Formats: sequence, structure tokens, C-alpha cells
Amino acid sequence: MLARAVAHVSQSALGHNLQNLSRRAGVPLLLPVKADAYGHGLELVSRVAAAHPDVWGLAVATPQEAAQLAALNLGKPVVLLTPPTPEELGPLADLGVRLPVGSMQEAELLPAHARAHLKVDTGMNRLGARPAEAIGIGQHLAQRGVLEGAYTHFSSADEPDTSDSEEEFRRFQAVLAALPPVLAHASNGGGILSFGKLPGMSLARPGLASYGFAPAHLQGVVDLTPVMTMRARVNQIHTALAGESVSYNRLWTAPRDTRIAVLGMGYADGYPRNATLKASVLIGGEVRPTLGRICMDQMMVDITGLDVQVGDWAELWGTGDISVTDVARWGDTIEYEVLTGLGNRVERALVP
Ligand SMILES: *Cc1c(COP(=O)(O)O)cnc(C)c1O
Repeated sequence: MLARAVAHVSQSALGHNLQNLSRRAGVPLLLPVKADAYGHGLELVSRVAAAHPDVWGLAVATPQEAAQLAALNLGKPVVLLTPPTPEELGPLADLGVRLPVGSMQEAELLPAHARAHLKVDTGMNRLGARPAEAIGIGQHLAQRGVLEGAYTHFSSADEPDTSDSEEEFRRFQAVLAALPPVLAHASNGGGILSFGKLPGMSLARPGLASYGFAPAHLQGVVDLTPVMTMRARVNQIHTALAGESVSYNRLWTAPRDTRIAVLGMGYADGYPRNATLKASVLIGGEVRPTLGRICMDQMMVDITGLDVQVGDWAELWGTGDISVTDVARWGDTIEYEVLTGLGNRVERALVP
């Protein structure tokens, strides 16, 4: 069966972003491919990334993602970023997955053949051990011969004011100074774009930036290209007469006879329902507004005067007139949520 919505994932755009980000960071990348590679497709992105010379390894959020990735045998380390349960430690260590450690209890449970990345909480107050405690945990792990890395995650690296990130980095450096040399990593995309190379770091973890997006105030610091182009098929075409309304709750009424294309993507596929009456798409060579409520499986577009047929494709976002940033703004959300919200009815296809 033909998918009604297809996300084209550009291998060259991803490679371009990875190279430029690694150059700016001055270190190889530990590429976040969590949440289905930010909606781009875990396997598809991981295969491309694992073959890229600037990628050291791949980072995921859940044990399921880690196991799925390890099973692909891509020849690059897989790092789990959030704590597994005690029962999951053995199986994950058997698969070679690098495990996060954020407490002495977790450290003591770690199997002897595990490889640990010590998680230091420098201000986010989410995961990890506070600096004073982290030093003891790191030394314990080093004595056991299982300490491979140490990392922290900035709370506010996407903001113009970098003072919080700078303070958090100083706290991280103080922990590293008390440990034997390890693979140290701190910057996400915002950190790389804000700071470039940070002293003592071995790796960097750009997520959204690898997929082509930078915070507004950091645009242009590194040349980034959106990796995904999202397209939906025209499933039917009809005309609403002047005075008739379209879609649930009749939010939009045709001021004139209006030719309408029904596209095969809706909020169940991840298109934000909050973008109702704000969203536009690229269709028949023009940017055209959606009409009425965005539905679960469909959205309607004004194609009056355009040469559009059933079976044609509309571009919902990509590298051209409409970006994920636009869709996120219309939907009152952020690029991360639009991309990771893409559903499993959306086909992912690798393109050159
Ligand atoms: C998601 C995540 C990243 C990537 O963050 P971006 O803002 O997408 O660059 C890096 N590190 C950790 C620990 C994360 O959870």
C-alpha cells in the first residue's frame, strides 16, 4: 500500500550538518538518535550516521531504543542516556551498550563487564549525581575498571544568555579534575553553537542541530540544512461553494467557490492540530492556506486556480518555503515536538 504521508530524509543534508557541527565542536559526535532519531527514523538515520567519519557513537534515551540499535550491529558505540532498571543492566551490558550512572546505588549494581558514563547534574536537576557526590561515584567506577565516560547536560544552552551554561560547565570541569581521564561530553546543539570547542571535551551531542535547526539567535553560526522534507498525498479534490463551510465545527466558510485538496496527513500523524486556521502548505508550486479544522487523518487546502490532481504531493515542511520552525510556530510548540510527534503511519524514506 502507498503511504499517504512520506518524510524524505536527506543523507547529504545529515552528513553536511554532522561534519559542520563536529568541526565547530572540535570533537567527534555522540549523535542523539533518541525518539526515533527525532522522528526521522532510528534505523535509517543510525545507518547513515554510523558510516560518517565525524560520528563516534549514537545516543538513545530508553533501553528499548538501545537494544534495537545494538541489534543493528553498526560498529559504533551505543550510549544510553537515562537510567535502566536493575534487571535491564545485565542484558544491556551484554549488548555492549554504554550505561549511564547517576548514583552510588546504580554504580554498585553495575555488572563487571559494563562500561559506564558517569552522569553529573550540574544544574538541570533532572538526572545524575551532584558534583560532590559524582566524584566519589566516578572514583568507585574507575577502581572497578568500568568508567569510560562522564557527561553533563546544560539546562539553558538554547538561550542568548550563556551564564548558566558557563557555571554548569565549571562545575563539570571540577568533577573531571578529580577523576582519571575519561571520554567527557557536555554540549548539546545549543552548547556547540554558543561555545564551539570547550576545553577538555572528547565528544559533543548535538540533537536538533544535526537535523538542521538552530535557536533563532544562533542561526548562521554553523551552516545547517533541514534533513527532513515532509510530504502528504492529495487523496481527493472537490469544490466548496461560496457560503459553505469546511471541516469540523465549520470554522472556515468559503468567501467564493473554492477548489479544495484533501491531504493524507492529520494530527494522528503528528501535524499539530493547534495549527488550525494558521497553517499553509506548498502545493502546485505555491504556498496555500489550509482550510478549517485540521483533522485526525486529513487536512484541507485551497487549490483554487492551481493545476493539482489527485495523487500529487504537497510539501508540509522542508528546506524551501515552509520549515518545521513555521509549523511549530503555527502549532504553538517547538521543532522538537513537531518532529518527534510524527506517527508511525508516516513513511520514512532515505534520499540522497
Ligand atoms: C536530547 C539530549 C541531547 C540533544 O539535545 P539537543 O538540544 O537536541 O541538541 C543531548 N544530551 C542529552 C543528555 C539529551 O537528553
